[in-house]
Amino acid sequence: MSLLEKPAIIYNELVSNVSCLSVGEMIKSLDLLEKEWDIDPTLRKFILGEVKSKDYTYVVGDVTFHIPYLVEHNRYVLWKCYWPDCHNCCERQGRLPLTSDDLITIKSNLRYSKLSEFIKKETVLATWQEPSAIITGINLKRKYDETAEDDGTRIPCRFLDDGGACSLHPARPGVCYLYPFSTWLESHGGQARIQATYQFTGDCPGFYLGDAIQDMKNTLDEYSGIIARYSMQYTRTTRESFGAASMS
Ligand code: SF4
Ligand code: SF4
Repeated sequence: MSLLEKPAIIYNELVSNVSCLSVGEMIKSLDLLEKEWDIDPTLRKFILGEVKSKDYTYVVGDVTFHIPYLVEHNRYVLWKCYWPDCHNCCERQGRLPLTSDDLITIKSNLRYSKLSEFIKKETVLATWQEPSAIITGINLKRKYDETAEDDGTRIPCRFLDDGGACSLHPARPGVCYLYPFSTWLESHGGQARIQATYQFTGDCPGFYLGDAIQDMKNTLDEYSGIIARYSMQYTRTTRESFGAASMS
């Protein structure tokens, strides 16, 4: 579908960098991760869908976080980032969908004067399946010769430098700021509320089991702002027809 065509339905689920992984793919990712990091065996089972959990909601600002609670273990699934000791999400990057704000920011960072030239040389148009929608979007190329056929494969991002830092930072795509959260909009009393939960790809060693959500309060406070900003940017992106989604 051309980006200039109107999608059948504008679905406000925000894009994630990897989704719809099979259990086999998750096992492979976790096996790879465990070569370098200690992963709690209960957490591994949970990620593979083998542990019963409940959805615990926790509101920070404009965002309702959905935090898994492992019923039989009486623990919450919490998260912290290990960067700079870890940059696994940049080494196993599945796709980098861009918002219209990203297009402008990264175009300038890469010193293009024309947006059309930037889009032609540095991005690739792809369509992929999210859990409840088919998304079409402009993705930043993770390697110079990336094509739509490479979409979803996990490869090292070309912007990851030798020191483990992002050479685009702070102009990196919004999805990079968002990871490992995934967000969508839900209507409550006629008003759209931003929802957020983790996306489990088996690539992030930052998940751990904790007794209280308050243990990651500072992280949730920080990400509430990041997610709210990204939500507005993504809504603007679909409105400006730089991306589209339709219910699958
Ligand atoms: S993989 Fe997880 S812990 Fe590592 S840098 Fe990315 S978000 Fe942080
Ligand atoms: S753009 Fe930067 S932060 Fe995003 S995946 Fe590439 S190296 Fe990592």
